[in-house]
Amino acid sequence: MRTLGRLALGVVLVFALLIAVVLVRTFTFKAPAAADTASVKVAPAVAVDVAAAAQHLSQAVQIQTVSHQDPAENQPAEWARLHDFLAATYPAAHAAMTREIVAANTLVYTWKGSDPSLAPVVLMAHQDVVPVTPGTERDWKHPPFAGEIAEGAVWGRGSIDDKGSLITLFEGAEALAKRGFKPRRTVIIVSGEDEEVRGLGARAAAALLKSRGIKAQFVVDEGLAVIADNPVTGGRLALIGTAEKGYATLVVTAKAQGGHSSAPPADGGGVVTLARAVTAIAGHGFPMAFSGPGAEMLRTLAPRAAFPVRMAVANAWLFKPLLIKQIGATPAGAALLHTTIAPTMLKGSPKENVLPQDATAWINYRISPADSSASVMARAKAAVGGLPVALSWVAKPEEPSPVSSTRSDGWKVLSAVAGQVTGAPVAPSLVTAGTDSRYLQGVAADVYRFQPMEFSLSDTEMIHGTNEHLTLKNLEQCVQFYARLIATAAG
Ligand SMILES: [Zn+2]
Repeated sequence: MRTLGRLALGVVLVFALLIAVVLVRTFTFKAPAAADTASVKVAPAVAVDVAAAAQHLSQAVQIQTVSHQDPAENQPAEWARLHDFLAATYPAAHAAMTREIVAANTLVYTWKGSDPSLAPVVLMAHQDVVPVTPGTERDWKHPPFAGEIAEGAVWGRGSIDDKGSLITLFEGAEALAKRGFKPRRTVIIVSGEDEEVRGLGARAAAALLKSRGIKAQFVVDEGLAVIADNPVTGGRLALIGTAEKGYATLVVTAKAQGGHSSAPPADGGGVVTLARAVTAIAGHGFPMAFSGPGAEMLRTLAPRAAFPVRMAVANAWLFKPLLIKQIGATPAGAALLHTTIAPTMLKGSPKENVLPQDATAWINYRISPADSSASVMARAKAAVGGLPVALSWVAKPEEPSPVSSTRSDGWKVLSAVAGQVTGAPVAPSLVTAGTDSRYLQGVAADVYRFQPMEFSLSDTEMIHGTNEHLTLKNLEQCVQFYARLIATAAG
């Protein structure tokens, strides 16, 4: 009895100690990315003529710089129209900056700073837009290329992605140039022509900047935004992408005998082999890990989150499996924590009564910063084992980007301006799609992805979808953001 009693007391003490440790850690937990932005003096607000800015965005939407899958369908004259429109609409900015055109239609503007010892900043926004899916034109409340201003918003394809950024960036630059702003630090604007398809323009711009030996302080491009109803705190949150995932598509081919389907082989033929291979690859998913920018977002937000979230994040050593389970419960949450595997296309024989001579599947991967195309291929090979299939990439994979700092001066400036202009807490996160900024990695160590627009989670469906529109409130916020970012970083 006495021994048992001692044992019970020991267990209770250990538990009490554990609870004490968990509670102390919870209440003393500090966000890691609470980089001290107090030292950043954010430039004051500028006067914004919202009606004029809305007109300008409307005009830009009407210029149909549509990037089709087949470039032969593009209308190159529309890009030239957009260039002329920018030059005519923003004369002060154009007088202050030099403009170069690289690739076919990519714009590189340089606003020379007075102090050549300061590293330049690079701001990006692409010119092209995705097509409107045929058959959905009539679903739009306002036609996709009319640029109608209605219901407190500018409507149309590109009003957010990414003419919303391009136009408000120029509005901000024009406002500063008009009042005689002279940057101390050089400001470079890069506007790619084909972000939605191949990013050749951004690559050419990056090559030009590299050839000049430019090492920028930081780059800001599209990617993430302010989310009004983020699931972590339930409130507003300005998310800045510190990394973006890689992109690769694996082609899986099962070679087979072919022939008449009335006498199939015992193993079922190429389609069965292919199905086995796809099932094996998709079933051999990458484990989710509480690490990288997705985890840093949670660590940053934990002090503002409800007690259980705060406790779990502060004691990740104990609750990591629980955290992963919770975040990974939704597809969007899971995408933050690992490389995703999505089989998307299948091809068998051309006729229902013909056995295929080869059956093919396409599997799209979004590669986490912790992985690489090589580790993806190795995992797929291991998954298919001895199955008679060939694996290859449909095109050269895009590797994931490096993770940018949340301690650097660039981060401090960007997060201070984003926080001031939007009034929302700022946190780093991972961009699960791709942007032109991936090609600028060699130009700056710190590449950030942020559009100062506020959306609810359901709003984000209109980007690349139907009824894309930018509210006038967002429009004004974007102009403020770009003007104040330039004035703060370069002033
Ligand atoms: Zn875009």
